[in-house]
Amino acid sequence: MERVDVAIVGAGAAGLSLAHRLERVLSGRSVVVVETPDAGLRPPERTWCFWEAPEGEWDAVVSHRWHALSVVGPDGTTWRSPTDPLVYKMVRSRDFEALVRDGLRRVRTLCGTVTGIADGPEEAVLRLRGSDGADTELAAGLVFDSRPPRGFPAGAVTLRQHFRGWFVRTDRPRFDLSAAVLMDLRVPQPDRGVAFGYVLPFDSRTALVEYTEFTRDVLDDAGYEEALRDYTGRLLELGVFTIIGVEQGVIPMTSARLPTRAGRRVYRIGTAGGATRPATGYTFAGAQRQTRQIAAALAEGRTPGRCPAHRRRHLLMDTVLLRGLDDGVIDGAEFFATLFRDNPLPRLLRFLDGTTGPLEELAIGAHTPVPTMLTALWAQIRPGQHGRSGDTQS
Ligand SMILES: Cc1cc2nc3c(=O)[nH]c(=O)nc-3n(C[C@H](O)[C@H](O)[C@H](O)COP(=O)(O)OP(=O)(O)OC[C@H]3O[C@@H](n4cnc5c(N)ncnc54)[C@H](O)[C@@H]3O)c2cc1C
Repeated sequence: MERVDVAIVGAGAAGLSLAHRLERVLSGRSVVVVETPDAGLRPPERTWCFWEAPEGEWDAVVSHRWHALSVVGPDGTTWRSPTDPLVYKMVRSRDFEALVRDGLRRVRTLCGTVTGIADGPEEAVLRLRGSDGADTELAAGLVFDSRPPRGFPAGAVTLRQHFRGWFVRTDRPRFDLSAAVLMDLRVPQPDRGVAFGYVLPFDSRTALVEYTEFTRDVLDDAGYEEALRDYTGRLLELGVFTIIGVEQGVIPMTSARLPTRAGRRVYRIGTAGGATRPATGYTFAGAQRQTRQIAAALAEGRTPGRCPAHRRRHLLMDTVLLRGLDDGVIDGAEFFATLFRDNPLPRLLRFLDGTTGPLEELAIGAHTPVPTMLTALWAQIRPGQHGRSGDTQS
């Protein structure tokens, strides 16, 4: 059986971020990225947006930047704010993958579908299925597994952030390039949860326009088409346009704890390791924080510890929000509109990245519907609370 020092399972956002970092810090140690040949398991191309300082480590593949964001309330009121000192950036997954893969010299890529991982005191053993169907084993001193989670415990509140976006080209200039629209809450709202439009303008005639929901159940094709037709036609008044691409996805938003450390030799990273911020679905920045901590520990010869992408108190706050949305006690559209109306945007962005202090968080909390949040908190923590029936989701 082949033995390596480090095996990274999956070559998505988290797996490749870790490979990229280990390439730089681990010389003389063997690192492999195991990627499945099964097209059904590989994620389709996507775009990742995140905010950070003007200069960042992925700038070579940042395809667009916005220095202001706007939020449109249910009644059409628009709050527009500069993001300064942060910048909202977009990376296309294909550019990111090409950059990382081109830079890998010492880190090897191995083709195989991981069908099982047996943890042990000294090493973990991966079972791999090749494209020919043959099974092999690989032993690794440490395993970082980014395979998507299969489901969440019944006691957790789990919503889905599900969306479809059209890359559109309009027949005449329609988009305001100076700001991306983070949430347009004018769209019809579901009974529980929240729905909104999202617009990333690339030039005055080209944009990614998405319809998104934070709800339990995804829509069917017709549902997304109808929502996007309504949003682009009635609300954005785009007139004549061509759809030049489509992006669709489901991101789990869960109160389930997804620790990075999953065993003696096994860690989970990315969405599987809790990198997704439960209240927003943003994952890319969390995966960077997590893989940075792992790489730093390994570079110093330490065994990585918890390497959390998010702080516990932030996860608790997010849980309360998810509970309130899921129980229908929080009016999602009003909640988000108030949050953006009453708080400076850069502070909110830092809060979502986990870099605010308790006083700033109190200030943010004071601008939420406090009695409603307390009701949701009580619903979450009261004894015997295990969520609504049928909670197990995948
Ligand atoms: C369409 C879309 C858009 C998104 N946009 C944003 C955004 O703008 N900003 C943001 O922060 N987040 C965004 N997200 C959420 C999140 O950033 C992405 O889902 C991100 O790709 C998660 O990274 P990951 O490494 O955890 O998982 P993935 O990128 O899905 O990687 C998992 C990897 O595991 C591999 N794999 C799966 N099973 C096996 C197996 N059995 N054996 C071996 N390998 C296996 C897959 O092939 C894949 O390479 C988006 C999600 C989607 C779906």
